[in-house]
Order: sequence, then C-alpha cells, then structure tokens
Amino acid sequence: MLIPEPVSIQSLFSSEVAEKSVEVAILRLDEIHPLVSGNKFFKLKYNLQAAQKQGKRTLLTFGGAFSNHIYATAFAANLAELQSIGIIRGEETNRANPTLAQAQKMGMQLHFVDRETYRKKNSSDFLENLSAQFGDFYLIPEGGTNAMAILGTKEILASSSAEFTHICVPIGTGGTFAGLAASLQRHQRLIGFSSLKGEFIHDEVEALLSRHQIYPEGSLEIRNEYHFGGYGKHKPAEIEFIKWFYAKFKIPLDPVYTGKMVYGVWDLIAKDHFPPGSKILLVHTGGLQGNAGFKAKTGIDLPTL
Ligand SMILES: *Cc1c(COP(=O)(O)O)cnc(C)c1O
Repeated sequence: MLIPEPVSIQSLFSSEVAEKSVEVAILRLDEIHPLVSGNKFFKLKYNLQAAQKQGKRTLLTFGGAFSNHIYATAFAANLAELQSIGIIRGEETNRANPTLAQAQKMGMQLHFVDRETYRKKNSSDFLENLSAQFGDFYLIPEGGTNAMAILGTKEILASSSAEFTHICVPIGTGGTFAGLAASLQRHQRLIGFSSLKGEFIHDEVEALLSRHQIYPEGSLEIRNEYHFGGYGKHKPAEIEFIKWFYAKFKIPLDPVYTGKMVYGVWDLIAKDHFPPGSKILLVHTGGLQGNAGFKAKTGIDLPTL
C-alpha cells in the first residue's frame, strides 16, 4: 500500500554537527505522502490485510480531534475501499477542523464522545454498544498500535540503514519504536523521544516490548525531557527550531512529534551525548497534516512539504 521502496535517506550537513565529529541523516517517511504520517502506513499495512482477510468491510478506530492516526486510517480505508468510523474525543464543534474535515472527505463517519466516555473506550460495554450501533467492524486501537502494526513498523529500517550507529524516532504510543527495536542490529542504539510528559513512558514501552516478545539485538534509550509541556503542547524554542531547521535543510517538521525529536537530537549533539564517529539516523515519521490544524489553533504558520 503506497510505500515506496526504498524511502530516501538524506544527509544533513551543518557546522554544529561537523564540530562534534558526528554525521546525521534523515529517513524521509514524510515523503511517502504529503499529508498522511509515514509511520502510519507501516502501522496500517498488515491491519488492512487482516481486515480484508477476515472479510470486514469497516474499520473503526479512536482518536483526538487533530489525530494523525484518524487522518491516516480514513485515508487508508478509502484506498482499500473499506468503510471507516472514527470515534472522536471531544466536541462536535471540532468537525470543521482541517484534520476531521479531511477525514470526512475521505468517507470517514465521525462519532463524537465526551472525555469521560472516551476514557472507557476499551471496556467491553463500550465496544458492545459500538457493535450494536455500527454493526460488524475491524477494530484498530487508539494510535493504531497492535501486533499487526508492529509487524509493519519492523519494516521501516530496511537494509540500507545498517551503516548507522544511532536511530532516533519520536514516541507516541511506542508502536513505531517497538517495530524499530525489533529490527535493530547489534551495533545500533535506538533512541526514542517521548512527545508525552511523564516518566510512565519507560514502563509503558517496556510493557509493550514484553507483550510483543521483542528482545532487541541493539540497545535502547528513551528520552522524556523534550515534550515541551506535554502531548500537543509547544514552546517558543521548539517553534524557532522548526523554522530554523526548515530554513537550513528545507525539511518541514511537525510540532507534535518530529519537531520535538529533532530538537532533542540537536540538543544531545551539543551536549556530547553521541561519541565522535556516530552516524545518526533520524526517522522523520511525518505528521505534517497536523500543521494546518496547528495554524488554525494557534495562528502559528509552520512550513509544510
Ligand atoms: C503517530 C505518530 C507518531 C507516534 O507513533 P507511535 O507508534 O504511536 O509511537 C510519531 N510521529 C508521527 C508524525 C505520528 O503521526
């Protein structure tokens, strides 16, 4: 489904990087599609296959009003000629925001629930209610992380990434991190940058890895000091960085995931976190559809592709 082989890797030359004797390159999953987050294609790939094999005609999933996952699921369902239903946390008034407007245009049926109800979305009562209301569907969890998703994200690091010593990626639910961990080589270190505030992410990712029986060959590290206030939050320093990065490399970043991750990598390079000779690969997961919603919400105009 729409995943070009191979995805391009570009070198990023800059004085701050050269000074520390490290090299940085970026894996452009964002180029897979201008609006659908690149990592989501990998997460949905085997879920779509499973849905089709099971004879399902509808995908149902959950998300917030600006969710990249909602957007991607609507898009993928449309492509696979499946119906889609999005259970959206929050107000009906969000219907007009750029993310949800686009999801509806792709044919997704939106169903709004209040935060209280949304929190119970994994309970059997809630799911039974959904079945009664919408009939039979293939369920994809919030954020899209399940066994099928990890099977897909395991394919992100193709053989061409063997030369890298460090792989850096943003973390939301950790499904992308888990798939990368599963395909890591012995000489590689995977660094995940949490876009959420809190120490809980360490336990959560550990639980995810053990649930899916992932025993990485390389080493793992999770940073949780680059959340800029928490999920969906931002600070001026991050916005400045995203603008600087675009001016320098002509590569757009999003404020929710990739902006935080790349900021973190630059900060860690400045702090000598990477030994000289390191070859660092940034995984640009996409998320650029969110920049339109970000502008609608904050008035801040970030570059896009
Ligand atoms: C969804 C998303 C992530 C987070 O992926 P997880 O597998 O949930 O950790 C990272 N970056 C972008 C751009 C995303 O859309």
